[in-house]
Amino acid sequence: MFEKLALIGIGLIGSSIARAARLKGLARTIAISTRSAETLDEARGLGLGDVYTLDPIEAVAGADLVILCIPVQSYGGVMEKIGPYLAPGAILSDVGSVKQHVIKAMAPFVPKGVSLIPGHPIAGTEHSGPASGFPELFINRWCVLTPARDVDPAAVEKLTAFWSALGSNVEIMDAAHHDMVLAITSHIPHLVAYNIVGTVADLEQDTQSEVIKFSASGFRDFTRIAASDPVMWRDVFLTNRDAVLEMLGRFLEDLAKLQRMVRVGDGPGLEELFTRTRKIRRSIITAGQETAAADFGRPHGEAKTLEGPSGTLELTGAPAPQLDVNVEVSQPVREHGGGDDA
Ligand code: NAP
Repeated sequence: MFEKLALIGIGLIGSSIARAARLKGLARTIAISTRSAETLDEARGLGLGDVYTLDPIEAVAGADLVILCIPVQSYGGVMEKIGPYLAPGAILSDVGSVKQHVIKAMAPFVPKGVSLIPGHPIAGTEHSGPASGFPELFINRWCVLTPARDVDPAAVEKLTAFWSALGSNVEIMDAAHHDMVLAITSHIPHLVAYNIVGTVADLEQDTQSEVIKFSASGFRDFTRIAASDPVMWRDVFLTNRDAVLEMLGRFLEDLAKLQRMVRVGDGPGLEELFTRTRKIRRSIITAGQETAAADFGRPHGEAKTLEGPSGTLELTGAPAPQLDVNVEVSQPVREHGGGDDA
């Protein structure tokens, strides 16, 4: 499909793309570039690509698909370097969790003849680094693409085919709409999780041990989300501030209503709300974005295999895939083990 795929950044998402692209034979050459020699060595040791370099310019040279897989606040510096060396006709994309901000950071450095098609795979785990990736991460997950209106439709089609081959369902969306939708489906849930786990972190020691002991009663499910990468999530809240504040305003209004229902003992009100929220969970299961399996389909250790043109892969020990960055789901590969549900 592509002659040369350049991945700038080789953490969870970059390494999962590398693994899946290799398995599916989507690029003749995979060039990997990352910031540190340590991560580059790790990627080399895992055999994730064909070319390994600390110089992003070398990675993008002659690449017909370039994907930035780095924290969104670091796009500016990288784009300034690689912009002039992007090959004519290339597709330039990314995987960042916010879209309006990255378009502002990327667009000024995109040369004529290069198609900028920002992307966001709604899939992830709370783990980071090249070893945490796995090729099935994107299977049956959404990947949102937010191309500008004047971008070459053939390029959008080609990138759509790439993500479809990785197993994703692709949706084309306006960047502002993406940021608003993700604010409520992903960013606010993370903020709530960070807050509730932060509250526990501030509790006195003996109460804390009880919280850990009895955590399966609900708290545990927040801790997985709150274990997500601190740098990535700092960037999300700094770069999607307006949409997050808008949704947080609504959330707080609803929380105040809930607080009142509890205070005045409004049983019917509580029951009516909890009935509506239960329906949302059922519709998520119906949409194939979660499992109705016992224990939320938590893994119990068996191995499975995935067939691809480049061979058969044993699926054990990798973290479970999730809905968006970390609001997680389960699907067939959940048997991997490792992840926890939210
Ligand atoms: P990760 O596992 O932490 O890997 C980050 C990669 O970016 C590493 O190669 C790292 O290089 C590089 N990097 C870090 N800081 C950098 C900087 N200042 N300048 C240049 N390179 C830098 O991260 P990830 O989870 O794959 O996330 C990457 C992107 O995917 C983010 O934009 C995130 O919003 C998006 N995303 C994440 C998820 C998720 O659940 N994790 C889901 C969807 C989208 P070194 O290790 O060499 O320093």
